[in-house]
Amino acid sequence: MPNIAVFIEQRDGALKKVAWQMISEARKITDANGGEVWGVFLGADATEATAAAGNHGAHKVFTAGGDNLATYNSEAWGAALANFCKINNPDLLMIGSTAMGKDLGPKVAAKLDCACISDAVGLSFDGGFEYRRPIFAGKCFTDLTTSTSMTVVGIRPNAFMLNEMGGSATAEAFDAGVDGIELKAVVKSIEASSGGKVELTEAEVVVSGGRGIKGPENYELIEKLADVLGAAAGASRAIVDAEWVDYSHQVGQTGKTVGPNLYIAAGISGAIQHLAGMSSSKCIVAINKDANAPIFKVADYGIAADLFNVLPALTDEIGKLKS
Ligand SMILES: Cc1cc2nc3c(=O)[nH]c(=O)nc-3n(C[C@H](O)[C@H](O)[C@H](O)COP(=O)(O)OP(=O)(O)OC[C@H]3O[C@@H](n4cnc5c(N)ncnc54)[C@H](O)[C@@H]3O)c2cc1C
Repeated sequence: MPNIAVFIEQRDGALKKVAWQMISEARKITDANGGEVWGVFLGADATEATAAAGNHGAHKVFTAGGDNLATYNSEAWGAALANFCKINNPDLLMIGSTAMGKDLGPKVAAKLDCACISDAVGLSFDGGFEYRRPIFAGKCFTDLTTSTSMTVVGIRPNAFMLNEMGGSATAEAFDAGVDGIELKAVVKSIEASSGGKVELTEAEVVVSGGRGIKGPENYELIEKLADVLGAAAGASRAIVDAEWVDYSHQVGQTGKTVGPNLYIAAGISGAIQHLAGMSSSKCIVAINKDANAPIFKVADYGIAADLFNVLPALTDEIGKLKS
């Protein structure tokens, strides 16, 4: 009867949907094997998080607030999550493999001296948990088990489907044990770089551009299509290294991992390191003038044509449909 805790990530009150994906998947396991799903929320107001967690299958949401947990700080939040686990003894703590989760997960595991698995895309339970994660830049998968009584697992955003069950969760405060402690580093201010646009790792649709766009001035073709689709704009490393766009747009092995419903790659050859960051997308559309480009091997739909013709035409047509 596993009890599964799921960290509900928020930044400035904005909740990350990977939490609901993890709760939905965890609930499938507890429905089949017994046990409960617990959300863990750190921050000021847990009302919205508790309602959404219940809707997706959580039985309970544990909450903690206070000055030291007001904004993200890995020292305080790591200690709070570790204290939560010491008090409540979940069998598993799931954390989204986001920038915050990748920082937090290993810290919590180190404090608890337990196993930590990063970037998992699959989870099953048969008396014990088994975790699936991609290796060799997404070319293979490895299935892992752990030998510690508790495990921290990082879950890739969009690895699991959402399931709205329409339930409700009870909220329960816990003592995070960080009130009044002196932190070694304090966050004074946060400057967001994405300017209110759709965050890549959360996006349902991503439009990415590569070296085929020829120059930085043409990245607006990518942004315009992204805008009409309500999508996030991504990039290959080639154009990030060339300083045509900021690193925050990079998709791939050394950039962000995305898993949207629709991924449109324009002027991207499909190098293995790029595929590592987007091959789990549900539907891939590739636009490339070279019909033999490797990207077409992973694409569901391929347009072997010049992106300078295709992107404006697509943007126009979709714009018309939307209006
Ligand atoms: C350790 C390591 C880590 C890396 N990490 C990443 C990573 O995280 N992300 C990443 O993306 N890469 C990464 N790379 C780089 C990767 O190997 C490739 O070099 C890079 O992805 C290539 O980018 P690209 O597809 O934009 O450029 P190219 O490979 O140059 O491809 C450009 C494509 O545009 C097409 N094209 C040209 N003109 C047009 C046109 N008018 N219309 C349509 N198509 C056109 C061409 O046919 C070509 O296929 C990494 C490499 C290493 C070694």
